Amino acid sequence: MIWYPYEQMKTMQAPFQVVDASGVYLYTEDRMLIDSVSSWWSVIHGYKHPRLNEAITAQVQKFSHVMLGSLTHEPVQRLSDKLAEFLPGDLDYTFFSDSGSVAVEVALKMALQYYMNRGDGKRTMVLALNNAYHGDTFKTMEVGDDEDYHFVLNAYGPSRHVVHIPTELPALERAFEQYHDRLNCMIVEPLLQGAGGMRMYDVSFLRRARELCDAYDVLLVFDEVATGFGRTGNRFVADLVLPDILVLGKALTGGYIGHAATVANKKVFDGFYDDNPEHALMHGPTFMGNALACSVALASIELFETQDYMAKIGRIEEITRRELEGFSDERIREVRIMGGCVCIEVKDGEDLRGYQQFACERGVFSRPFLKYLYAMVPYIITEDELVRVLSVMKEWFGRE
Ligand SMILES: *Cc1c(COP(=O)(O)O)cnc(C)c1O
Repeated sequence: MIWYPYEQMKTMQAPFQVVDASGVYLYTEDRMLIDSVSSWWSVIHGYKHPRLNEAITAQVQKFSHVMLGSLTHEPVQRLSDKLAEFLPGDLDYTFFSDSGSVAVEVALKMALQYYMNRGDGKRTMVLALNNAYHGDTFKTMEVGDDEDYHFVLNAYGPSRHVVHIPTELPALERAFEQYHDRLNCMIVEPLLQGAGGMRMYDVSFLRRARELCDAYDVLLVFDEVATGFGRTGNRFVADLVLPDILVLGKALTGGYIGHAATVANKKVFDGFYDDNPEHALMHGPTFMGNALACSVALASIELFETQDYMAKIGRIEEITRRELEGFSDERIREVRIMGGCVCIEVKDGEDLRGYQQFACERGVFSRPFLKYLYAMVPYIITEDELVRVLSVMKEWFGRE
C-alpha cells in the first residue's frame, strides 16, 4: 500500500488518478484539470514539454546514471558550468543531491564545517526564521519552524543549536548582538516563505542580514528551493542580495526528476580547499549528478533563458493583481501576491474545507493547506487559464 505524504491515511480522501499530463493540464479518466500547484511548484514549463522530453530521452539512449565518485560525465559538467554562468556573483561551486531537503542538509553541514576547518569549533548555531520551512529531514526540521510539519521534534525538547526570529529588523539586530560569535550561518527562504504559509517580506531585511553576516563573519544561506527560477518575480532573490551558499531544487529540473544543488561561493569553497584530507566535504548522495536530471535541468535553464521567462512571470503577476488585488471577503485575512505566487489567507482554515473538490468540478487542481489557498502556476499558462484559476478562487467566497 502507498503511504501518502502529510495525510492521516485512515481519513484521507482518495487522490486523483492522473493518466496523462500535458502543458498546464492534468488528465484523469474523466476530467482535465489546470495544475495550479505546478506539482509542488516544480513544473515551471508545464508537463510533457517537447524540449525537455527530447533532452531526457536523448540521455537515456546513452546512459541514465553513473555514480559521481571517481566517475564524471558531460551532462553534470555542462550543468555545473551553466549554473556558474547563470547564477549571480561567485556562486560557482555546485554540490548536487537528489532532493531539496538533502541539499539544505549539505548547506548546513558546509557552514558548520567551514568554521571547523578553520579551527573554530564554537560556531555550532544557526539563525533561522519563524515559520521557516526547509524540508522534512531532521536537521532541516530543526532549522524549520512549523508545528504542523515538525511537531515530532518536540520529543527532543527545544533546540540548543537553532535560534528563530521574526522577519523584523530589531529582532535581527538583537540576534546578531547576542549570538554572533556562535553562529556559523543564517538560513532563510528569501522574500517568500512557502510551506510556512506563503509569507512575504521585504528585501531590506535581507540587505541588513547580509551586512550583519559580513560584519560578524557569519555565512548567509539562501534556501531558494521554492523561490529560485523566477517564482518571486526575480530570477533568483540572490540577484538582489548575494548569499554565500544558495540552495536550489524543485524547479531545477523543470519538475521532471528529483534533483537539487547546493551552490557555494569561492570563500566557502576555499575553506575546504587545501592539502588536509579531513577538510574534505564528507557527503555523497548515491544519485548526485544523475545524468537524466542534469540533462533535463540544462534544457530547462536554456528554455528559461531563451524564451524570456521573466516576462512571462511579470505577466502572471500583472494578471493576478488585476484579478485579485482589492478582492475581499469577511472570511479573508489577507491576499498576498508576489511574482508567480498568490495566496489568500483566511481567518479560519475550516473555510477552505471542500475547496479542492469545488475547484476540481471547475477544472482546476488545487491543494490548499491550513489557512492558505494559493496558486503557483506553470509559467507557460495562458491568460484565459490563469483567469480561470483565479476566478474559481473568487467564486468559492461568493458561493451559495
Ligand atoms: C520543498 C522545499 C524544500 C525541500 O525540498 P524536497 O525536495 O521536498 O526535499 C526545502 N526548502 C524549501 C524552501 C522548500 O520549499
